Order: sequence, then structure tokens, then C-alpha cells
Amino acid sequence: MKITDHIKNANGKTLFSFEIVPPQKGVGIADLYKNIDPLMEFNPPFIDVTTSREEYIFLERGNGLMERKITRMRPGTLGICSAIQNKYNVDTVPHVLCGGFTKEETEYLLVDCMYLGINNIVALRGDAMKGEKYFEQSKGGHKYASDLVKQIHDLGTGKYLHEEIVSDDNSSFCIGVAGYPEKHIEAPSMNYDLQMLKKKVEAGADYIVTQMFFDNQKFFDFVKQAREIGIDVPIIPGIKPIATKGHLQMLPQVFKIDLPENLISEVLKCKTNSDVREVGIEWAINQCKELLDFGIPVLHFYSMGKSDNILKIGREVF
Ligand code: FAD
Repeated sequence: MKITDHIKNANGKTLFSFEIVPPQKGVGIADLYKNIDPLMEFNPPFIDVTTSREEYIFLERGNGLMERKITRMRPGTLGICSAIQNKYNVDTVPHVLCGGFTKEETEYLLVDCMYLGINNIVALRGDAMKGEKYFEQSKGGHKYASDLVKQIHDLGTGKYLHEEIVSDDNSSFCIGVAGYPEKHIEAPSMNYDLQMLKKKVEAGADYIVTQMFFDNQKFFDFVKQAREIGIDVPIIPGIKPIATKGHLQMLPQVFKIDLPENLISEVLKCKTNSDVREVGIEWAINQCKELLDFGIPVLHFYSMGKSDNILKIGREVF
């Protein structure tokens, strides 16, 4: 079922969902299941599965020579989506990237989705490759997520890249896109970024999932500004419970977000990472309760491989 239909059918009740990251190549799926199992008590209508960009690796070739190869360390997004869908009978949402894919490869991936019964997709540009400063459009690929959204939307109406196919079997996709309550790092202003977000909705996006944030006011302002410029699709907040002291540096660096002063000082007081985990849980519970009062369609959690903290948060707020 489409995410937007799940939201409609919930009749104003907030739903629970989460995002998982595929394991590293060579690691089985068992650990992933162990983390998903406990969260099924909240009846998530859908689970997102990320896609990682390809990266360069350097192989020793003897005589001090190194050979540069390109590889994807966490492939298998679609396989995992299908496995989860079959095991838990929930919808899965693969993240599809512009970076690293030609338009043709994207088309074939979408065709695979149709056969697998996957009709929700989050369409993203992707970040720059590791070691590169700026995002480079792949040869034959898309430059912006809005272009990818258009391709996905078109395919649902039978408009393939090089042909138009009239068929009852063409199913349309429900398309999610990313939104940034603290602005995307490359956007020159918040207003500019919101206009670009609007472009994604005009190209066919059906809902928005936000980058993680730790200060709800930023989310409330973001929703208000989005509505003011006519973005009327559901906006789903993304929540990440802080879990280690290292997150104080890592989260702002990787996700380009700020952390509130009182959260930082609470984390700094902690003696161990398990104390930090408790602080993160407490913070997220308060965040979630306030978001529920505000009225949100879905609370979407970034699990990053561990679910014990999300389980505790879910039990407090649902
Ligand atoms: P875009 O919407 O294309 O925006 C990128 C930048 O270009 C922005 O600054 C925007 O303002 C600007 N822009 C957009 N359109 C135009 C235009 N037409 N003209 C000029 N400027 C424009 N990354 C992964 O690698 N894998 C994942 O699975 C993944 N999942 C994510 C899930 C969520 C919910 C979020 C919030 C992010 C996720 N990311 C993921 C990270 C994402 O790929 C990066 O944040 C990336 O830098 C931007 O992606 P986007 O889709 O928002 O890009």
C-alpha cells in the first residue's frame, strides 16, 4: 500500500516507522532481523531501507603499486526490502539515488520494484562520494532529486525513458523526498531550499521526510514556511536518539545539523556511553511527545543498526 494511503487510513492517528541501513557486504541479514523484531510491536506500516553510494578502494598490486577500484560497501537495498516485506508483511521503501546510477539503471531498478510489489520510493540526490568535496552528477544520471522524482512519476504513467508503454500493468509509485528543517548545507538560504523542495513536490513527490533534528522549533518553523509557499503534502519528522559521546561531533559533521546547548551539556556530564544512551532516549521521548501534540502523520526513526533505544522511546510515546 502507498504511504499516503497508510496515512489517510490512520485517520489522524500518528504512525510509527523507521529506517534501516543494509549490512556491510559479506554480513548476513540475521542481525538486521534481530533489530527489526522488537520494533514490530508498534505495527510499522512501512520500513525504509537506505542506499549507500559507491566508493573508491585502493588494492595493493605489489611493487608499491596501488590500483583504484570502485565498489559499493553496502549493496542489496532492494533484496533487503523484498526479504523484509516477505518476512514481516510490511511495506518497504527503498531509497533511490541520483548519484552513482544512470537513468537507465534507475529505470531497471524501478521495474524490479514493480515485480517485487514495492510501490513506495524515497528519491534522493545522494551526497558527494567519500573523498570528494562536491556532488558530481554521474554520467547519464540525474543532477537533482527533482529530476529523479520526475522519472519515477513518469514511469508510473507508462512514460519510460525511451518509449511510451500503454499497459494496465504500469503501477504508479508513491514518492517521498528529503526536507531539511535546518536547510540543506549547499543551499544559499532557507527560502531557496524550500523553493527547491517545492520543485520536488511539483515534479510528483507525495510526501516529505525530514533530516534528523533535535530542536522541535526548527521543525515547526519548517512546516509553517513550507505550508506558506504552498507545499501541502504530508511532512514526516525524522528522529535520531543520540547514543554516544562521539555523536556530538559526528552528527553535525555528517548530517549538517545543530545540537541544542542543553542536550550537549547533558551528554557531556555522562560518564559512560550507556549514560549517553539514556540521555538520548529521554531527549527523544520529550521531542516525540511534543511532536505528537503538534500533530504529525508519522514518527520516523533513524535506527542506524540498533533498536533497543527506539523500543524504549516507542513504549513511552505510543
Ligand atoms: P536535492 O533535493 O537534489 O537538493 C540538493 C541541493 O541542491 C540542495 O541544496 C537544494 O537546495 C539544491 N537544489 C535542488 N534542486 C535544485 C535545482 N533544480 N536547481 C538548483 N538547486 C537545486 N543519502 C544517501 O546516500 N543514501 C540514503 O539512503 C539517504 N537517505 C536519506 C533520507 C533522508 C530522509 C534524508 C533527509 C537524507 C538522506 N540522504 C541519503 C542524504 C541525501 O542524499 C543528501 O542530503 C544529499 O546531499 C541531498 O539529497 P536531496 O535528495 O535532498 O537533494
